[in-house]
Amino acid sequence: MQTLRASKCGLSAAQLPSSILDVIDALTKAGYEAYIVGGGVRDLMLGLNPKDYDAVTNATPSQVKEVFGRRCRIIGRRFELAHVYSGRELIEVATFRAPPKKAVTSSAGMILRDNNWGTIEQDFARRDFSINALYYQPRKNEVLDFCDAVDDIQHKTLRLLGDPMLRFEEDPVRMLRTLRFAAKLNFSIDEKILDIFTPEITQLLRDVSPHRLYDESQKLFTMGHLNRVMPMLIEFGIWRQLFADIPPDITPFIERAAKNTDQRISIGKTINPAFFYAVLLWKPFLERCDFYASKGVVPAEARAQAGLDVLKRQATRTIIPRFAETFIREVWEMQTRLLNPKPQQIEALSSHARFRAGFDFLLLREKSGDQNTQGMGIWWENYQTLTADERERAIADYNRQRAKSRRKAAQAPAEDSKAHAAVQQAEIEPLVNEPEPRSRRSRKARSAEDRRPAASAAAEGGIGADHPILKRKRVQRDLSQVVFGPTR
Ligand code: ATP
Ligand code: MG
Repeated sequence: MQTLRASKCGLSAAQLPSSILDVIDALTKAGYEAYIVGGGVRDLMLGLNPKDYDAVTNATPSQVKEVFGRRCRIIGRRFELAHVYSGRELIEVATFRAPPKKAVTSSAGMILRDNNWGTIEQDFARRDFSINALYYQPRKNEVLDFCDAVDDIQHKTLRLLGDPMLRFEEDPVRMLRTLRFAAKLNFSIDEKILDIFTPEITQLLRDVSPHRLYDESQKLFTMGHLNRVMPMLIEFGIWRQLFADIPPDITPFIERAAKNTDQRISIGKTINPAFFYAVLLWKPFLERCDFYASKGVVPAEARAQAGLDVLKRQATRTIIPRFAETFIREVWEMQTRLLNPKPQQIEALSSHARFRAGFDFLLLREKSGDQNTQGMGIWWENYQTLTADERERAIADYNRQRAKSRRKAAQAPAEDSKAHAAVQQAEIEPLVNEPEPRSRRSRKARSAEDRRPAASAAAEGGIGADHPILKRKRVQRDLSQVVFGPTR
């Protein structure tokens, strides 16, 4: 173990928000050891802006609770940790952990229970990558490096602690973390990982809860380097594990949307992570629409059913929350409306709650070469810049053109009535009919899932959210079990 001067590593307490310093100070004052660990230290050393700071201590969660009283909540049963509210922020405080006992790992080697308190030396070995295992005590100006992590930071190398195969078996999500950190930090992946990181071992991800995989997919989408990580997901075989029916092919549309997402993040704009799911699933959705159209289902019904089907299939891999599913289906439905709006509905459409997302989606399609948008992306883009009078004229022009093309269409009946007819039909109906609420049983199951603290969005970004404990439940994800067809 090396003790380094923090200032020599480019770290200073002055860079830290008061929330994390308060937590470190209060624990130290109460006589405990306390460090900042994980992504916070790593990112600061790399000159990046950390997403959050995690603390680690030798105090047990109940001792942490004694120190912080009502500001502290102990969360998680299988992976217990303390949430401390400091100012407006929430800091995760974990206790040093020892290796899990044999009895609490699954037959495949996955860790199921993990509340075995230990020493700092034991704790570091439990962490995933060397660069995530630096312990920083800002008041002592010290960084503890147990594994030459600083070297790895300097050489931009992502190295798993211990035997990579074993570490992936313990927690297959580390495969996703490998690609996420490699892309985010632009680090090279250690040879020892590359040697074993084959598409076959990505099968281990089948045992990870689809809720946890959704959370992970969101982290991939929102880390700011989506465009860089996508080819890696394909190359390492992760894509197929995450996305059931999306061909492992980065189409111009997907690429454009990914670049756009990264760009928005780089300039601090918000993004709706469900939007990228809408992009990824667009092709499977269109194919499913065609399928129903070929069976003679009316377009609006075909779209509704296709949307449900595609999302249901995707849920075998990543369970998209219901509100995000609704958003995705509304963005898809907006495509029909924006493509062929009734003139009298144009103004109302432009102030619809889903207009912005639907329009962005349409424009991305158009700019990536999708001919089916018929120039309506640009039309709507211009429309938004017009004055009230100009809008009226634009609508009148549009109306004339529409009537003209209708007359033309009546003279020459469409040869291609099948392909994408479902999507291009000019029907205006309720945007999305909510699917029936889940059965009581499945609702109960879902809310139990939501209560699993580490899986919840609240724990996002913390040790808990990535912890192997979440994979306790084996999930049946044999695709042949998912039946296409009416779900109601
Ligand atoms: P970021 O917050 O930027 O995504 P991070 O490294 O802080 O990156 P977190 O998920 O916040 O990642 O986890 C905090 C720390 O907990 C990690 O740095 C690592 O030391 C440890 N950790 C998290 N997930 C795992 C895991 N699956 N296996 C082992 N250690 C983990
Ligand atoms: Mg973190």
